[in-house]
Amino acid sequence: MTTGSGSCICGAVKISFDDEPMIQGLCHCGNCKKITASAFSTNAVVSESKFKVDGEVKTYTINTTGSGMPATLHFCPTCSCVLWAVSGSNPGYVTIKTGVLDEGGLDAFAPGAEVWVSKRATWYAGVGGECAAFQKMPPGFPGVTDENV
Ligand SMILES: [Zn+2]
Ligand SMILES: [Zn+2]
Repeated sequence: MTTGSGSCICGAVKISFDDEPMIQGLCHCGNCKKITASAFSTNAVVSESKFKVDGEVKTYTINTTGSGMPATLHFCPTCSCVLWAVSGSNPGYVTIKTGVLDEGGLDAFAPGAEVWVSKRATWYAGVGGECAAFQKMPPGFPGVTDENV
């Protein structure tokens, strides 16, 4: 699956992309818990050049991230739904929050990795199976240093 589309809760912002994600995964970091108001975020990282937005968004930049680089959230000014983030550690890519995808999107872009497992909620055993699990970030991922692997 390489194409996806979605929207915010109120429908004022629509997104779409046509790209093979460089990574699809769950993030258990502290910021993602707050972004989603839940236990983890579900993400697909795609090229900014193959990503389209229809509608106006507001942004908020988080300066306290695991990579030490800022990450900018893009959300609907009306319903507050966060649709994607842009990480300073991974220029040229956008991190789609796959919960905003249309029906079937969460299945089409199923997680291939879990990151920040060191911060995973104790009651959640993880995806398991073929899904890789990293205590922090995967080695070799953009912005990853010795401190956050
Ligand atoms: Zn909205
Ligand atoms: Zn995270």
